[in-house]
Amino acid sequence: MKEKFKKDDHEMPSECPYCFYENDACTNADIKDGARVPIEGSLSMCIRCGQFSIYNEKLDLQRLTDDDKAAIDAKTRAFMDKLHLAWTMSAKPTMDAKYGKPFTEGPR
Ligand SMILES: [Zn+2]
Repeated sequence: MKEKFKKDDHEMPSECPYCFYENDACTNADIKDGARVPIEGSLSMCIRCGQFSIYNEKLDLQRLTDDDKAAIDAKTRAFMDKLHLAWTMSAKPTMDAKYGKPFTEGPR
């Protein structure tokens, strides 16, 4: 389990395009050149506000467009819903207690 979540795989700061929280890490979304890193089109969920965003060609996060949302397959959408539920039950209360409610909580 520990091997699966090595810190080296997570160090990629990014700013949430919804609440502007500075996330200091990312999940092991995709594999490029043997490294688990986000690539253009990888999805990300903000630990602060729970919104999903997408990496652009510069590997900056941007809000999901309606076209982006429409392109998400049912299996991925189901996983996103489970992930968001897990976030709601675990990280959200901690983040809200620490920082207060985020100033944006638009539709995911
Ligand atoms: Zn956010």
